[in-house]
Amino acid sequence: MSWRTRSLCSTRMVSIPSAAAWQQAYDAWWTATEATRRPCPRCGRRRVRHGRRARYVEGRGESTWVAVIRLRCRPCHTVETVFPPWLWPYLSWHLALWVVLCAARWEAGQSWSQIAQGVTSTPATVRRCVRAWQRHLVGWRQQALQAVAPWGVPLAVAWVVTTAASGVAADWAALVRLWSAVATALAWPGDPPLVAWCAGAPHIVPAALVPPHTHWGRRLRAAGGCPP
Ligand SMILES: [Zn+2]
Repeated sequence: MSWRTRSLCSTRMVSIPSAAAWQQAYDAWWTATEATRRPCPRCGRRRVRHGRRARYVEGRGESTWVAVIRLRCRPCHTVETVFPPWLWPYLSWHLALWVVLCAARWEAGQSWSQIAQGVTSTPATVRRCVRAWQRHLVGWRQQALQAVAPWGVPLAVAWVVTTAASGVAADWAALVRLWSAVATALAWPGDPPLVAWCAGAPHIVPAALVPPHTHWGRRLRAAGGCPP
């Protein structure tokens, strides 16, 4: 982690690989999850490889391209671009960097210009992006609670209920706490907890609560998608 990113978020550290490491990380992830991603979510048949697509990734003041695998189901005439849990469609920043931005704003209380400096962006861009996430916090919390409740993680639930009523920072804190609780309970690998949650949530959450009319929503509604 660079000193700039570290200075963004002193309250909770996350590991952020350099841009050059993304392809390696993607290939390792694909090898580990190919067996579960190969079957078509609609018909269950094995899908064939359909080349790769270049995906732009920004982070830590640098950028790169990752060759992302595409899968095709011949009977269904569908093609899916296979994204890892830490890289979402339509978002050029990877997930670990988003978490750092949100934490810098809602945990450390930093100004937009301070945050923008750390990621080599403009204050307006950073503000717009973080606020886009803010709109989803309540939905994400409901979704995480839905997953946690039947498994009895009473501490996390009680904590969320008592703290989540007061503003965005509390919403975010509650969410981080929930993601951590679920990731720990299931021993899902991932750093930060949001990545672990994204990796594991499709197995236990039947439907995403992200508004279905959005790009994310369309993507996440699909079986095998990765709800936040
Ligand atoms: Zn199919």
